[in-house]
Amino acid sequence: MDRVALVTGGTRGIGEAICTALKEAGYTVVANYGGNEKAAEAFSQKTGIPAIKFDVSDFEQTREAINQIENDFGPIDVLVNNAGITRDGTMHRMNFENWDAVIQTNLASCFNTSKAVIEGMRQRGFGRIVNIGSVNGQAGQYGQVNYAAAKSGIHGFTKALALENAAKGITVNAVAPGYVDTDMVRAVPPEVLEKIISTIPVGRLGKPEDIANSVLFLVKDNASFITGSTISINGGQHMY
Ligand code: NDP
Repeated sequence: MDRVALVTGGTRGIGEAICTALKEAGYTVVANYGGNEKAAEAFSQKTGIPAIKFDVSDFEQTREAINQIENDFGPIDVLVNNAGITRDGTMHRMNFENWDAVIQTNLASCFNTSKAVIEGMRQRGFGRIVNIGSVNGQAGQYGQVNYAAAKSGIHGFTKALALENAAKGITVNAVAPGYVDTDMVRAVPPEVLEKIISTIPVGRLGKPEDIANSVLFLVKDNASFITGSTISINGGQHMY
């Protein structure tokens, strides 16, 4: 296997599980992170996967970093757009900075990274892009106009990019997790989290590995007829 995979936000939570699954399947994996050096160092020590810092919300920084990664590791065949943040608050309390940070980090980042790899993928006639959406982009969520808009945008972005590149050997899909046990969800107040868990038919939070399994399935060479799809992984919390 000589496929190179880049996972944004790959050093913690869901991204870490995706990196590990890809590495175990034989991919050459590079993880990106935003600024938590301690977590990145621990991740690289544990997994042996290199972690490269750049801000996915910054177009130029992302372009330069991805060029460097391709020089160092080879052309990127698999891109997983996983980096994300929350800045929750109801609309009447949300300031512009919290709106903008979430849109830039969660949605504009998908443009920034995809723009840097898509031409090479088209020339080589192969590519796999998986974007991490969210149940809250599908269903909406109180206190998350920024996050729900960004994640819903990801689902539209996925379908449009899939159409544009379907004839070039490139598939573009989304995975929409429900609530998964990571730092992001641990930041939710316990009483709110308890209420959320009571609405999940499977009766538990998701595990990062639950998401990683589906990403691995979608990026395989033989998943070439699946494009523009969204796989919902939410323990039955939202079906439609
Ligand atoms: P975590 O908060 O555990 O990890 C986020 C990762 O993203 C970290 O590696 C972080 O880097 C990185 N990151 C954040 N901002 C940037 C940036 N500007 N540039 C580069 N990297 C950045 O998140 P989760 O694992 O919980 O979530 C992963 C994805 O899954 C996100 O897109 C999230 O929205 C989505 N998701 C999560 C759900 C959940 O329940 N956990 C549910 C549905 C969707 P650093 O460590 O340096 O900060």
